[in-house]
Amino acid sequence: MPQLIVVDHPVIQTKLTQLRDVSTNHPTFRSLLEEIAMLMTYEVTRDFPTVPKEVRTPLEPMMGRVLARAVTLVPVLRAGLGMTTGVLRVLPDARVGHLGVRRDEKTLEPIEYYKKLPPDIANTEVLLIDPMLATGGSAVASLQYLKQAGVKALRFVCLVASPEGIALVQKTHPDVAIYCAAVDRQLNDRGYILPGLGDAGDRVFGT
Ligand code: URA
Repeated sequence: MPQLIVVDHPVIQTKLTQLRDVSTNHPTFRSLLEEIAMLMTYEVTRDFPTVPKEVRTPLEPMMGRVLARAVTLVPVLRAGLGMTTGVLRVLPDARVGHLGVRRDEKTLEPIEYYKKLPPDIANTEVLLIDPMLATGGSAVASLQYLKQAGVKALRFVCLVASPEGIALVQKTHPDVAIYCAAVDRQLNDRGYILPGLGDAGDRVFGT
């Protein structure tokens, strides 16, 4: 069953509304995106497997629990970088791979231009990160690259998703859970999400 989890938390929604505002400048946009990513990570990792681990408190030994597997974050360049710092606040031990996938301006088809992943990524929990799930083309291609690298435990984390993008990812990768903070109305004819928040990369980096 394809899973779509909308993290509809009031604090996240408040920050997302500020983020969408056209008058929000890039330093504020950057910190809001980071904060939302940090808060979403709490939900995204809720059912990660744990293993028992003995720990000695100042009073006595006990069995605690720790994450069973290492985590790898894979932001899609470049907007995905804007969420990565927030996710790392919750998962400071995570490794970070990078995928460069851009859309051809005319065809809107994804083109991979950079890939650097940790060698043992297949044994880790992987979070693919891209704030905007628009046409779904980059997400589908990125998920395919990660599966080719042997990744099995894979989740897609975005901020705003379009119905079209969700449908495409669910059709091509029904085993991958999608986490987002909002599902917006539709795409426009240039592949932008409406109402959306504009170009996430431009707004993070002030370009
Ligand atoms: N990428 C963005 O940054 N914004 C959109 O609305 C769609 C794709």
